[in-house]
Amino acid sequence: MSQPAYQVTDPSTGEVVQTFSPATDAEVESALASAAGAYADWAARPVEERAEIARRVGSLFAERAEELSKIASLEMGKAQSEASGEAEFSGEIFTYYADSGPEMIAPRPLPGNPDARVEYKSVGTILGIMPWNYPFYQVARFAAPNFVVGNTVILKHAENCPTSALAIADIMQAAGVPEGVYVNLFATHEQVASMIADPRVQGVSLTGSERAGAAVAAEAGRHLKKVVLELGGSDPYIVLDTADVDEAAETAWATRMENVGQACNSNKRMIVMDDIFEEFVSGLTKRALEMKPRTEGAGAKGEYAPMVSRAAAERLLDQVRDAVEKGATLHAGGTLPDGPGAYFAPAVLTGVTPEMRAYREELFGPVAVVYQVSSDQDAVQLANAVDYGLGGAVWSTDEERAVQVAAQLEVGMANVNTPAGEGVDLPFGGTKRSGFGRELGPLGIEEFVNKRLFYVQ
Ligand code: NAP
Repeated sequence: MSQPAYQVTDPSTGEVVQTFSPATDAEVESALASAAGAYADWAARPVEERAEIARRVGSLFAERAEELSKIASLEMGKAQSEASGEAEFSGEIFTYYADSGPEMIAPRPLPGNPDARVEYKSVGTILGIMPWNYPFYQVARFAAPNFVVGNTVILKHAENCPTSALAIADIMQAAGVPEGVYVNLFATHEQVASMIADPRVQGVSLTGSERAGAAVAAEAGRHLKKVVLELGGSDPYIVLDTADVDEAAETAWATRMENVGQACNSNKRMIVMDDIFEEFVSGLTKRALEMKPRTEGAGAKGEYAPMVSRAAAERLLDQVRDAVEKGATLHAGGTLPDGPGAYFAPAVLTGVTPEMRAYREELFGPVAVVYQVSSDQDAVQLANAVDYGLGGAVWSTDEERAVQVAAQLEVGMANVNTPAGEGVDLPFGGTKRSGFGRELGPLGIEEFVNKRLFYVQ
């Protein structure tokens, strides 16, 4: 399969800004040799030394946040304020694993058997395949725990964010990460397959679509390599009742519009009780109608950024059109404003039914689908009716009731009275077709380790 080169295309104009050639096969070989060659020394260093280097990486992400934000904003369109927040959060991930990682992987005695313990040993070189939507955060989630554990990593970033990939590699170098411990590679899909097959690679972690996850997992399965998959989602956001409907609509809308709706764990399906449904929908509609496409630069309040590409905006438009043609109601937006950019007018949809694509597919952009239900049980049933199982949130002034509903969600992350509990210390990941494995928190450091039993008698 031939692929375009790694390319920066400005989503606000559609102009190609910079092009990079994909790696040659010789460069792939050199990346593998470098990462595998660096492993023994890296793994043998005291964990505190690796943690110290991770800490320096964290500081550099924070120091360079503004510079990084301009790079990401040009590549994939997001607002600079969001991109600099992402860069800072990425730094916090490195700092978190520098602070807490050594303790998390300290040997643990087995209860009831003083002669036996479990050790957390590194395994070798891990391949990371990351998407464009959070170009720094996704890489940090993957790389930071692997550094502290003692694995080396090869990073294949998305084709549309090569300059973010290079900026990260530059941070690694400036922080004193030894050569080979972090290797950036502009690999093609075929080269990814060949690296998974290579005995020098011990595991692979992919964040992205189901299509990519299935392809990479099939390859990993063929070669018996461990795989972590962080895939798509269609997270439910259940509003049982609220003291203030307008405030609930404000939170729901702000969460849905983050990253122009291009977040895996965005609240893509809002499930709202009968008695507050109309007021909630008008709250969202009012906000959608107030928004205008970004005019220039960093963007201003009330303006929305372009989506990642015109093709992505057109795909979303097709999903919305399919719903409207089959009887759904579009309350606002759902159009592509004139001009070459990838702008998509934020939309509110109701009346979505199972025969519509919008019911089952992930809507990866600024579309709020709102469903009306009349009981807690109906809300749970609808929430669990899709093949995804990433996250979910439940809102109620009655916390006990909300907890009961949240406990029935088939998701990897259940939240009560918070849109999406994300933090360096909170394990992130899904179930069903949203993937398997966890990143962040103490669980994120346990994926690519050999939990070795050590038994002395
Ligand atoms: P994508 O097309 O699957 O791309 C993600 C990464 O996988 C890119 O680096 C891509 O490389 C690579 N890739 C795709 N097909 C591949 C193959 N056959 N072999 C090897 N590598 C392959 O993802 P996307 O559609 O841009 O990203 C959005 C999706 O990611 C959404 O579904 C979103 O929900 C999901 N996501 C999930 C999480 C999570 O934590 N669960 C977080 C963020 C995003 P190229 O660019 O070279 O094609």
